Amino acid sequence: MCLPFFRNTSLIDIGLNLTHDSFDHDRFEVLQRALSVDVTHMLITGSDVAHSRAALSLAHQFPEQLRATAGVHPHHAKDLSTADLPALRALVNEPSVIAVGECGLDYFRNFSSPEQQEQAFRWQLELAVESGKPVFLHERDAHEQFVSILSDYLPSISGAVAHCFTGTVDQVKRYVDMGLYIGITGWICDERRGQSLREAVREIPADRLLIETDAPYLIPRDLHPKPKSHRNEPMYLPAVLKRIATCREESEVYIAEITTLNTQRLFHWPQ
Ligand SMILES: [Zn+2]
Repeated sequence: MCLPFFRNTSLIDIGLNLTHDSFDHDRFEVLQRALSVDVTHMLITGSDVAHSRAALSLAHQFPEQLRATAGVHPHHAKDLSTADLPALRALVNEPSVIAVGECGLDYFRNFSSPEQQEQAFRWQLELAVESGKPVFLHERDAHEQFVSILSDYLPSISGAVAHCFTGTVDQVKRYVDMGLYIGITGWICDERRGQSLREAVREIPADRLLIETDAPYLIPRDLHPKPKSHRNEPMYLPAVLKRIATCREESEVYIAEITTLNTQRLFHWPQ
């Protein structure tokens, strides 16, 4: 029997939207399939207060495999008011919540106004300072303003990851200089959109690299055979690993090992 050669090295998906309704009918099977390919731990992303609560409840249900983040995605910034902050703070302070976010700025679609996004971002950065927990960051088409706001808080924050990084070589170098970890998704598997990312991924120091699926979004485009569904799942994380290894001319075993160590260093999990 032929097993994948990274079989002995487990993988951690640091960004999985498992509370998404596309998983409502088969959430448990999705977890089982992930475990069957040695994706042994998954960090469930909170994108608003309700989904953060749902992510926490999943983490309570599967304490060996799952942890949660608590935060409000920039798309939902318009729904976050001062009245919601006590509830968000309570979630952040839960032991199974290991990061604040996802939070940040997304000027690609501006579902919330830039002003609303900036306010929500600052509130969550303050929660990260207060709680001592790292931040799980989202940035798209907002690099300059994102850097400017984040820089005000970064010295007081325990750690940070730019999740689903899709930017340029210059941007990744700047984030690394700021001390950020960089999360790479299946975007890198896209031969049309992923070209600049394939160059940027080579610039990430080994001790700052993290891997994630961002499922159900961003299914790797180079899967063989191609799955019938376009829904991404944590079981496809090895395809992200493989592409990163190819781009960096490093072995899959090595990438698996360093990304696990980096996850442990940033989130103090898994212990
Ligand atoms: Zn995101």
